[in-house]
Amino acid sequence: MTAQFNRITLIGIGLIGSSLAHDIKRLGLANEVVVATRSAETLKRAEELELGDRYTTSSAEAVKDADLVIVSVPVGASESVAKEIASSLKPGAIVTDVGSTKASVIAQMQPHMPDHVHFIAGHPIAGTEKSGPDAGFPGLFQGRWCILTPLEGTDPTALKTLRSFWEALGSRVDEMDAQHHDKVLAIVSHLPHLIAYNIVGTADDLETVTESEVIKYSASGFRDFTRLAASDPTMWRDVCLHNRDAILEMLARFSEDLAYLQRAIRWGEGDKIFELFTRTRAIRRSIVQAGQDVDAPDFGRPHPLEKK
Ligand code: NAP
Repeated sequence: MTAQFNRITLIGIGLIGSSLAHDIKRLGLANEVVVATRSAETLKRAEELELGDRYTTSSAEAVKDADLVIVSVPVGASESVAKEIASSLKPGAIVTDVGSTKASVIAQMQPHMPDHVHFIAGHPIAGTEKSGPDAGFPGLFQGRWCILTPLEGTDPTALKTLRSFWEALGSRVDEMDAQHHDKVLAIVSHLPHLIAYNIVGTADDLETVTESEVIKYSASGFRDFTRLAASDPTMWRDVCLHNRDAILEMLARFSEDLAYLQRAIRWGEGDKIFELFTRTRAIRRSIVQAGQDVDAPDFGRPHPLEKK
């Protein structure tokens, strides 16, 4: 493939930044990749992993002459990055991000962007519970959705270019309003993480069940929550604080529905319980049919005596 961009700058080189670096290199999407990160340790690790061609802890320095700048830092750090890079951006550059919340990132970054650059916020719906430059891998975005949230007046050519970048990584691209994105993600991602953090916290606080029992018997359901609850605390603190309204709205709905289930259990209303559990099973089937998960039992975990 001929390079789509002469220079791509990656600001932040954790799970998402390093996965982008692997794919940009693998697919030859840029002639040069510049890596910038806050700390000298992470920068050194990125260099050891050969994630880019040039490395710096100065974001301002990194964006000079870049055609595409991708900001992959916790959403709460978006404004400070925008302020730092604003005056060094080249005219015509596309600036995007990968943050898990969109209205807040736009509010933090857009006011600092000079008129001569194209700022288009985005969010790849792909990830794992791991973080840091060692966590990234090629193909993370393959077959996953990427949501772009252009603004009124966003240049259509720049939007098309950014779209084709994500498509080159194997992603399918959707466009939507930032507020709508934040609502959708509150239910499909933010609430599940909060439930997982909460249930693992509750188990940890229980006095009648020992910690060793929680761990020993975790295969009965608990361990599936622990994957989400092992996600990066900084990233998820920022998501909670920066998508506050949508998360609070979904939490209120969730609590109401939980109360309904609680009541059905108290009053022995088996039909209500059965109806809900049947409905939810169908959702799982739809996710598999949509290619967003594989149909392997127990999430494909190997079982010792299973036939290959
Ligand atoms: P990560 O692995 O923890 O890496 C974070 C990167 O941001 C590191 O390079 C880190 O630099 C830098 N950073 C941290 N705090 C910073 C600050 N205050 N100012 C400037 N730089 C800072 O994170 P990630 O999982 O790649 O997530 C990056 C973004 O992608 C987040 O906005 C997240 O919401 C979004 N996202 C994550 C996932 C996921 O599954 N993880 C999926 C989709 C989108 P140092 O190490 O040098 O300090």
